[in-house]
Amino acid sequence: MPTIDRDHLAELLRREQETYRSEHPKARDLMGSAGHLFGGVPMTWMGKWSGGFPIYVAEARGNRITDVDGHEYLDFALGDTGAMAGHSPAATVAAVARRYGELGGATTMLPTAEGEEVGAQLAARFGLPRWSFTLSATDANRWAIRLARLVTGRPKVLTFAYCYHGSVDEAFAVPGPDGAAVSRTGNVGAPVALELTTRVAEFNDLAGVEEQLAHGDVAVIVTEPALTNIGIVLPEPGFLEGLRELATRYGALLLIDETHTFSAGWGGATRAWHLRPDLVVIGKSIGGGIPCGAYGLSEDVVRRVGEHSEADLVDVGGVGGTLAGNPLSVAAMRATLADVLTPEAFDGMIARATRYTEGIARVIAEAGLPWSVVQLGARAEYRFAAPAPRTGSASAAAADDELDEYLHLHLLNRGILLTPFHNMALMSPDTTDDDVDRHLGVFAEAVAELVGVRTAA
Ligand code: PMP
Repeated sequence: MPTIDRDHLAELLRREQETYRSEHPKARDLMGSAGHLFGGVPMTWMGKWSGGFPIYVAEARGNRITDVDGHEYLDFALGDTGAMAGHSPAATVAAVARRYGELGGATTMLPTAEGEEVGAQLAARFGLPRWSFTLSATDANRWAIRLARLVTGRPKVLTFAYCYHGSVDEAFAVPGPDGAAVSRTGNVGAPVALELTTRVAEFNDLAGVEEQLAHGDVAVIVTEPALTNIGIVLPEPGFLEGLRELATRYGALLLIDETHTFSAGWGGATRAWHLRPDLVVIGKSIGGGIPCGAYGLSEDVVRRVGEHSEADLVDVGGVGGTLAGNPLSVAAMRATLADVLTPEAFDGMIARATRYTEGIARVIAEAGLPWSVVQLGARAEYRFAAPAPRTGSASAAAADDELDEYLHLHLLNRGILLTPFHNMALMSPDTTDDDVDRHLGVFAEAVAELVGVRTAA
């Protein structure tokens, strides 16, 4: 088995960084001269680039991005899922242009007739009958968690180590030495100690979940059906069924966050794996790039919320936002769900991801590397561990920042864009077999340079 020579890796990374800097002079100047932006970019995350500064977008269409320095990229990041429908899909562009331009009224705090159609689309896909709209998946999680607290009368959320659900205060927890929740490293300005709000377990560990639920203070289990923010950690057979059973037995609700796992198919993992959540959260992709999010509620949760006449759901009770459900994002969701992210689109996206996964597995095997690749419908991600880790903590332990940086930059310098936060490739309806093969060819080249073993992608 080849070992990675760290000096050689550092040398390769330096070379790729030099290439990157010399080929992106406009981007370098834009970041260098930004005097009025916190972190030098419109949002601090955008600074996470191993070249020291990001590429700056000039245009984006389908699965291609052109930057201000004139390079074209095959986009496998797709805005970290926000652009899973492809950049500016025609149906969404038409719907948004009509609402914003022709009809007007992007933000009114008034409903439009299209809302019910979006609710019906989401209900058909994820099985929950009632929906409410937000502007982000983060907000959908926050508001759904508040409702869960209301109906159970319990204070805590149960999450899994190394989960991510947006900037939801309760979710930045890992297990401490005695099993109580402690803050993840780097958690900025946490309002209170995590053990006051959160119980935490390892994914795929039902005994650990039960131990935490037995305290009797958990309002809701919040989880992705597969972890996707620490590599992809798939549920083992019986784990999600066990969660459902334990939640019911201990009087907690089950919230499934489908924001990324929507990649599993037309109805996300909830439909593909026959899950029975009380609450579903989704965001990012369903508006074709226009900010939006949504949460779905079971009939039982709706009924139990209804028993709380004291809960202010129509003004300043903590569930809602001025721009949530605005006509522009509703129009975008309707068009994207009805006309872009169709069953046929998912068939193609999943077939491309299968081709990609098989290709990556081939390269890893031929190079003899102790790595693994995991597919979840239209997305796949490799991790520097084999077999694929089965918990968030094990997956976190397999992180290798320097390897990430090298691979990301090697690919970027050859026209392949990955999200800086993952070794993930996401397929859009526009991604073709040729695009996948180009990515695989460049990946094989990067690996060959790393370990000196040439493979056929
Ligand atoms: N849930 C999951 C599973 C996510 O991965 C993310 C973001 N990566 C979010 C929620 C939050 O999405 P947003 O930042 O768009 O609010």
